[in-house]
Amino acid sequence: MNDCLFCKIIEGEIPSHKIYEDDKVFAFLDISPVSKGHTLIIPKSHSENLTQGTEESAADLFKTVHHLAPKIMTALEATAYNIGMNHGADAGQLVFHTHVHFMPRYAGIPRTFEKQHPSQEELAAVAEEIRQGME
Ligand code: 5GP
Ligand code: ZN
Repeated sequence: MNDCLFCKIIEGEIPSHKIYEDDKVFAFLDISPVSKGHTLIIPKSHSENLTQGTEESAADLFKTVHHLAPKIMTALEATAYNIGMNHGADAGQLVFHTHVHFMPRYAGIPRTFEKQHPSQEELAAVAEEIRQGME
């Protein structure tokens, strides 16, 4: 086991609000979301960033983004979304395990990139809403 936070989340060593998992990719709620349902989608095999990982891993990651985006949108009745990736500290990367930020957006709710700090209960309720809506 390495010392990577997101590897520990994949292993369940650190708890998270899981949205989706398959053999290659894991998705869970960001602990400090910028919007309701802000989800991190990550490859299970560790790489620091998109280009340090393999092309195959990048393809698997974005296949899952493509698959999950409409499901999360429907589940939360979102009307739009932002996708983001920070590569390197100078770009604002804080966790050095490749991750896509999926940020649902809603008509009438101002778009902000300011981190919010919901309670664990609030995050759990959002995760449940997404999982139910995805079934
Ligand atoms: P970065 O700035 O590296 O692109 O984004 C890392 C993201 O990971 C941040 O949005 C931050 O809120 C999130 N994050 C940091 N620590 C944890 C954690 O322990 N659990 C979860 N679910 N998200 C985390
Ligand atoms: Zn890792």
